[in-house]
Amino acid sequence: MLRALLLAPPGAGKGTQGERLAGAYGVPHLATGDLLRRHVAEATRLGTEARGYMDRGELVPDRLVVDVIVERLAGPEPLAGFVLDGFPRTLTQARQSYHWGRARGRTFHAVISLQVPEDELVRRLLERGRRSGRTDDTEETIRHRLGVYAEHTAPLLDFYRGRDILVEVDGTGPVPAVTERIRDTLGPLDLHPSEPGSQDTAAAQS
Ligand code: AMP
Repeated sequence: MLRALLLAPPGAGKGTQGERLAGAYGVPHLATGDLLRRHVAEATRLGTEARGYMDRGELVPDRLVVDVIVERLAGPEPLAGFVLDGFPRTLTQARQSYHWGRARGRTFHAVISLQVPEDELVRRLLERGRRSGRTDDTEETIRHRLGVYAEHTAPLLDFYRGRDILVEVDGTGPVPAVTERIRDTLGPLDLHPSEPGSQDTAAAQS
C-alpha cells in the first residue's frame, strides 16, 4: 500500500496528480487544503479560525492542521496507504508526522517533488482562479503563497532528501505524462514487503 506525499509549490499539480496516483494505487487522496476548505464552508470552529490565514495565503497554524490530518489518518483504523497533498508543509509538521507514522509503522515510502517554473505556476493559478473562483488565487495572494512555500515548505525537500525518499519529477507537460513520470519513479519501490514490520525499514527515515 503506497504511502506517498506530494511536495510542491501551489500550482504544480499536487491536487490533480494526487487524485490520479491515489486512483492508480487504490489508496485515498488526502488534501489538507480540501479538508480545510470543507471546514470553512461548513463554518466549523476550525474553519472559522483557519479562514483568515487561507484568504491571506498564509499557512494555517500547525496545531490546527495536525489535528485535521491526524484525525483523517488515524480514524477508527489507521490508514495503511494514502497519497497526501499539501501536508506536511512545515518542518514541525514533517517531524510530527514522522513520529506519528513511526509509532504506527506508517511512515512515507516516497516524497514526490513536482518541478514547475515559477511563471508557469502563476499562469496556472490565475487560470484556476478564473475558473473556480478560489479566493486565494488572485495575483497578489499567489505571489505571497509562493513566498510562503519558499520560506516554510521548500526546506522539507532537504529533510526528505536526507532520508533518501525524495523523488524529483518534471511537472510540466500534459497531465498523463506527468503521472507516468511519477509512476516510473515509484515503480522500483517495494510496496508489498514480505515480512511484517519490514515496511518500516524502507520508510523508517520518512
Ligand atoms: P492548498 O489547497 O494545498 O493550496 O492549500 C490552501 C491553503 O490551505 C494554504 O494556502 C494554507 O492556508 C492552507 N493549508 C493547506 N495545507 C496546509 C498545511 N499543511 N499547513 C498549513 N496550512 C495549510
